[in-house]
Amino acid sequence: ALQCGIVGLPNVGKSTLFNCLSNAKAQSANFPFCTIEPNVGVITVPDDRLNKLVEMCNPRSVVPATVEIVDIAGLVQGASKGEGLGNKFLANIRETDAILHVLRCFDDDNVTHVHNTVDPVRDKEIIDYELQLKDLETIESRIAKTQKQAQTGGDKVAKMQYEVLKKYHEALLQGKPARTVILETPDEQKFGRELFLLTSKPVMYVCNVDDTSAVDGNKYVEAVREAIKDENAQLLIVAAQTESEIAELDTYEERQEFLAEIGLKESGVARLIRAAYALLNLQTFFTAGADEVRAWTFMRGSKAPQCAGIIHTDFEKGFIRAEVIKYDDYVTLGSESAVRDAGKMAIEGKNYIAQDGDIMHFLFNV
Ligand code: GDP
Repeated sequence: ALQCGIVGLPNVGKSTLFNCLSNAKAQSANFPFCTIEPNVGVITVPDDRLNKLVEMCNPRSVVPATVEIVDIAGLVQGASKGEGLGNKFLANIRETDAILHVLRCFDDDNVTHVHNTVDPVRDKEIIDYELQLKDLETIESRIAKTQKQAQTGGDKVAKMQYEVLKKYHEALLQGKPARTVILETPDEQKFGRELFLLTSKPVMYVCNVDDTSAVDGNKYVEAVREAIKDENAQLLIVAAQTESEIAELDTYEERQEFLAEIGLKESGVARLIRAAYALLNLQTFFTAGADEVRAWTFMRGSKAPQCAGIIHTDFEKGFIRAEVIKYDDYVTLGSESAVRDAGKMAIEGKNYIAQDGDIMHFLFNV
């Protein structure tokens, strides 16, 4: 399953945010959550299209898309040198597919800050620095291994890898994350991915604010926004503490009323789940029938056989073709047979690039 890791310095609100997510069940029946380990939760991705398909098909079972969220506690200054939980913590990050970086953007004298003052840009730099040092270590050891081969023999692959490693090295030495490095060819990109660099993962900065700043942010949020403008990263404002109090209210009406009081229509948690899904570069295709309506998660850009392989590896191996219906056609025409009759069902081959919202049926050899 795809995983988002929550990182940040101690006391910035990571567990508060994680608890809001785990309480999301209480906020709406659409976000069931289950804790599979103390710090890992599985969250259902809210999707109105799935609800609509369920309404139309009335299936025996429904399976929504999910994302895993991991609370990665223990990152402190010096982690790359083994301080705190150090290496264990970094290994946890390596396994995630995207990072939610929580930053303290609220004042509160009762909550101590490990570096004494509230300064989210500095905090972000401390964490970035640790991750970059670790990546630098990875890159330098790979360079040491490839250099000779690349510079002496006519080994094309080694040359390509060496060039890629040098690009990363240069960026990291300048204090830039690996994610800012642009690789040209598919071979380079594949090699880049296989390095599993910590700073190449997509990042969303989650600015944790007080309830009065939940809508427009504050001076801290502005400073973060300015600091990340060249980073190719996203920013989301959440009032974690307030939202965790809201999550404890008994009824949906009470919770909506409280949200409205701080100026929100929708909980930050719901926005966060959706944003995390997009951050992971994920899209959804559906299978729909009387037995089951199900949302399947795929990486943007996947071809039809790869999508078939998500359902079952045999579907990918023996892929023949896919029958594809656009979600809007399905809803407008009302049923699969009506779509067929209208000639709106497409037959696609192995090079078809799946689109978000496709309703697919695969034909394959066994
Ligand atoms: P973690 O160490 O990053 O997991 O931080 P916690 O989630 O444990 O939060 C540390 C402390 O800050 C707790 O006492 C929280 O109640 C408090 N806290 C978290 N978010 C907010 C916030 O938005 N405003 C205020 N005033 N306090 C917060």
